[in-house]
Amino acid sequence: MNLRYKSTRGTGEPVTASQAVLKGLAEDGGLYVPTEIPKLPVSLDVLKDMSYQETAFVIMKEFLTDYTEEELKDCIAKAYDSRFDTEVIAPLAKVEDAYYLELFHGPTIAFKDMALSILPHLMTVAARKNQVKNKIVILTATSGDTGKAALAGFADVEGTRIIVFYPKGGVSEIQRLQMVTQKGDNTSVVAIHGNFDQAQSGVKALFEDKELAAELEQSGWQFSSANSINIGRLVPQIVYYVYAYGKLLQNEEITEGEEINVTVPTGNFGNILAAFYAKQMGLPIAKLICASNENKVLYDFFQSGVYDKNRDFVLTASPSMDILISSNLERLIYRISGEDARKDSDLMGELRTKGTYAITGEMKANLSDFAAGYATGEQAGETIRSIYGNTGYVMDTHTAVAASVYRDYRRDSGDTRKTVIVSTASPYKFARSVLTAIDPAYGGLEEEALIEKLHEVSGTEIPRAVKDVLHAEILHKRECPPDGMKETVKEILGVK
Ligand SMILES: *Cc1c(COP(=O)(O)O)cnc(C)c1O
Repeated sequence: MNLRYKSTRGTGEPVTASQAVLKGLAEDGGLYVPTEIPKLPVSLDVLKDMSYQETAFVIMKEFLTDYTEEELKDCIAKAYDSRFDTEVIAPLAKVEDAYYLELFHGPTIAFKDMALSILPHLMTVAARKNQVKNKIVILTATSGDTGKAALAGFADVEGTRIIVFYPKGGVSEIQRLQMVTQKGDNTSVVAIHGNFDQAQSGVKALFEDKELAAELEQSGWQFSSANSINIGRLVPQIVYYVYAYGKLLQNEEITEGEEINVTVPTGNFGNILAAFYAKQMGLPIAKLICASNENKVLYDFFQSGVYDKNRDFVLTASPSMDILISSNLERLIYRISGEDARKDSDLMGELRTKGTYAITGEMKANLSDFAAGYATGEQAGETIRSIYGNTGYVMDTHTAVAASVYRDYRRDSGDTRKTVIVSTASPYKFARSVLTAIDPAYGGLEEEALIEKLHEVSGTEIPRAVKDVLHAEILHKRECPPDGMKETVKEILGVK
């Protein structure tokens, strides 16, 4: 079978998987979706004995049908290797009545590694397949996590160059250190004298700059994007849901075919959308529980059928979920409209112009696979403290939002199906918030002492990623004003 990808906004011919990976966004501004969702290619019984890499192969080959088996296996082997601190890649921890799927054992200790460690390899293969002679330049604006995961993923990948812009003073100290100490001859990190929005709009303007594109082409470069709407990020995220189900089966926590629920701490709606696709493939998932923090635009959407970003933006202790426009939701909107590209474009147009849209009653009826909840910072902190108190297990602030929403859901719905809670970051990445939730007295500690204390409290190893950055050499010192980004990119690439 040769699966193709079409735009949610419907104009233009469907493209191959490798073309969708290279392009990222469709030309009409829509997101690429597969023309159909493939079924699970192996039985659950076979699945349960597979390694992470084997699971990745059988799932990804159903979606990326123009990649050869060798190409895919090679990408998988390069991505999920000893840069992860556990051979199982995505361990499941049973804590109280739930299973925490820990997606933070990769090089940057957050779940973005699950996809960003393989995307660069999928992209270089895609470039080769489509006779792209240029080298690929990845441009990213980051508020913290994505930049580092993309740097780690693309570092020293042949045929690529990565440039990351972050707002000077706008990221945490650990996040800054993680980026400015990044090794790799093809990596650049630039602090801009502005905020994240300015970095983001600056990058967007560079992508749309036709004159710049022509100049780059002359020197053998072309831009590509690593952001979370790329199907090269979405597809690898389906894998861990299938893998988790297999492990529950293998450990005899569930019986074959038993339906489970999943709870996902959500921002841009990529992670939970991957779970939805896993369900469409036939994985026995009952409810997809979408957990938000105080920026609860998704919770309100699932309650009312109205998406409304016109509200105050709240800075929370779970910053990677501080989002008011969840880009990947467009793929769900398209689906529940009965794949009506016209309807999708209309609603996204309203979002752009008015900041809000309402779905029809019929569309809302198609959302029955989902449940939604939100947790305040207070509630998430209380969850960290009480689960630690009861079990000794320490979770990060994003995972705590999901754990808190899960507790409420279970209590209010009476639905007691076994539940996988997706754990998206290591507590070491948010040591200060995590420790002060356990005991406010820890708030006075310095960064390094906090890490030591967390080690003591949790009884878990300090991740390499944290140890390394505290004493590593600063390699990136470049800065620029927001209106100097174009010049900076040209200078880095040696384009005159
Ligand atoms: C990105 C991120 C999320 C949100 O994931 P989405 O796919 O954007 O919904 C949650 N937690 C952490 C730690 C993240 O880095």
